[in-house]
Amino acid sequence: MNPLVVRHLAFHYVVPEGTRPPGMSCTPQRLEEHIKWLQENEFEIMTCGEVGNYLTEDDITLLRKHATLSFDDSTRDHYTNVLPILKKYGVKGTFFVPTCILRGIFPPVMGLQFLIKEKGAETVLTEVLPNILKGTFYSRLLEEGVLNIPDDYRNSGESDIAGKIKTIFNDTVPPHLQIEAMEEALSFYFPKVKMEDLVADWFANPSQLRTMGDAGMEIASHTVNHQRLGLMSRDEVCFEAEKSNSDLFTFLRIRTGVFGWTFGGEFKSSIKGGVKRSYKTAWNFYHSLEEVPEGDIYADWMNIPRVNEAAYRLD
Ligand SMILES: [Zn+2]
Repeated sequence: MNPLVVRHLAFHYVVPEGTRPPGMSCTPQRLEEHIKWLQENEFEIMTCGEVGNYLTEDDITLLRKHATLSFDDSTRDHYTNVLPILKKYGVKGTFFVPTCILRGIFPPVMGLQFLIKEKGAETVLTEVLPNILKGTFYSRLLEEGVLNIPDDYRNSGESDIAGKIKTIFNDTVPPHLQIEAMEEALSFYFPKVKMEDLVADWFANPSQLRTMGDAGMEIASHTVNHQRLGLMSRDEVCFEAEKSNSDLFTFLRIRTGVFGWTFGGEFKSSIKGGVKRSYKTAWNFYHSLEEVPEGDIYADWMNIPRVNEAAYRLD
């Protein structure tokens, strides 16, 4: 499939100018510009699942010029800001949900974003992380000059300090420790608030997700706990894949064959095999690619590339 006739755009926070979300973001106006551009240029806007439905073992010729709009992490703005825009233009989007939020648990990396937003990146770097890493080898990563921040963070428009915090936490703290570390940090800084109430404020809640599904939006899996799958065993990856799939059915009565890789990047074939047991297609995310990659982007159904919307010029 020629990349020039395919545009799979990945979005994160969609919030007004000046809101300064603690992660990748665009404004509602920019989302509208993307949609107008795609419609003016005669792209058919589909959900990821609809694209998947066209993929058969031998024939994808029915797919013409097409695009997807997908939104990662299920933050509240997807309900308040994105849904009305998609409805206004009569298009459908795919929403990748980390399903621990359905039972009132903050995905650790999103808890980190929440702390950055509420307490400031400096506090997270000088208080929260040292506490989490105390007594471990990884604490030396906090020292000045030890860590090179991966270009992915820099290229996606995040500040160096946020990049450093996220790199240390996401890429070094073992996944099972991340969950309890974040619980402890949140209860330390917000002793009077229950985690489920923080989650209810920060994310789209189950009834909002159901409303989105009823409006024709696709709700798809983004693992259970939104962690680095490359740091996990194959069994743990299988758990994240299967459990998030069954969670969407248990909590929302939604069946999906669509999986969104958390963080994106390269994945070992053993890990892709673990995800393939529960999904027809798995969608990757490229932070800093400026165009959908060359070649047959549907050659590997477990690795369909999505591009950071911020990479596109719309003129
Ligand atoms: Zn994500």
